[in-house]
Amino acid sequence: MTTILEVEQLKTRFRTDNGVVSVVDGVDFSIHAGETLGIVGESGCGKSVTSLSIMRLLPPNGKIEGEIRFNGKNILDLTEKEMQSVRGNEIAMIFQEPMTSLNPLHTVGRQIEEAIILHMKLDKAEAKKRAISLLKAVGMPRAEEIYEEFPHQLSGGMRQRVMIAMAMGCNPKLIIADEPTTALDVTIQAQILDLMREVKEKTGTSIMLITHDLGVVAEMCDRVIVMYAGQVVEETDVDTLFENPKHPYTIGLMNSIPELDDEREYLDTIPGTVPLPHQMPKGCRFAPRCSQAMAICHEKPPELLQLNGHKCRCWLYAEEGEQQ
Ligand code: SF4
Ligand code: MG
Repeated sequence: MTTILEVEQLKTRFRTDNGVVSVVDGVDFSIHAGETLGIVGESGCGKSVTSLSIMRLLPPNGKIEGEIRFNGKNILDLTEKEMQSVRGNEIAMIFQEPMTSLNPLHTVGRQIEEAIILHMKLDKAEAKKRAISLLKAVGMPRAEEIYEEFPHQLSGGMRQRVMIAMAMGCNPKLIIADEPTTALDVTIQAQILDLMREVKEKTGTSIMLITHDLGVVAEMCDRVIVMYAGQVVEETDVDTLFENPKHPYTIGLMNSIPELDDEREYLDTIPGTVPLPHQMPKGCRFAPRCSQAMAICHEKPPELLQLNGHKCRCWLYAEEGEQQ
C-alpha cells in the first residue's frame, strides 16, 4: 500500500494572551493511496488545526513542529511558493461553509477555472470546458447556466457541489474535507456524501474526512482516528471501531449517536467540555469527564498503546497493550 501522507509528532502551538498554547500535541498518522481516513472528535479537539497545519494555512501566531511528509517530502521544508503549488493542485480542501471559501464577486465558472488555469496550464477555452464537465460530474443540473452564476444564487447543497468540483479540478491526490456536510440538511447531506464516495471511486483520490459525526464516519471511512484535546486517543479500522470501541471517549461519542428507533428523550452525551489548551489536566486529558477514571488517571498521562489492530491511549488497557 502506498502511503501518501505521513504525519509524525505534529505539534501546533499558538502565541496567545494566555501564553503559548499547544492545540495539537504530538499527533501521528498516515493516509494510504485511495483510502478515506476519518478524524473524529468534538470541536476544540484539534481536528481543524491538524488539517490547516497540513495545508500550512495557520494564522501568523501559529507554529508547526514535527514532520508532514506528502509523497515522501516534508511539507514543512517547502518554500511558500512550492507550497502554493501543492495547495489546490495536489492537496485540495473542502470546508464546512462554502460561502466563506467562495468569492462572492466571481462567477462559479471563473472560480473553478482559476485553479485549473494556474496549475494545469490550460488556456481559457479548455479550462471552461473542464469547468463545465466538472459541474456535470458533481451532478449539477443546468451546468452551463450555473457556470455563469454567482455563489449567492445557489443553495447550500449546490455550493458544496461547486466546492467539490473545485477540489477535483486538478485531480488532487488528497482531498481534506473539514465537516463538509455539517451545515446541510439531512437529505442533502446524504447526497453530498454519495458524491464524495463516487469521486473517490472514480479518481482514486485519498480523503481525510474531519467530522464530529460518527454516522458520517460509518458511511465513508476505511480507518478512523479519534482525537481528544489535541492528541490521538484511539485509532483502528472502521469496522473494529464500531464493533469494539475501546477508549471511554469513543464509547461516549457512540452513545451520543441517535438511533432510528431511539425512544430516549435525551441522548447520553458526555458530561463537561473539552479542556482549554492552557488548562490541560495533568494526567489523562479526558479524566475530568470519564466515568471510569481511576487514581492514576488523574496523576499520569497515559501513552498511546498498541493493542491488537488497535491503538488506544487509556490506563484501562495498560496491561494488555504495548507502548508505541
Ligand atoms: Fe478514563 Fe483513565 Fe482511560 Fe483516561 S486513562 S480515558 S480517565 S480510564
Ligand atoms: Mg473544526
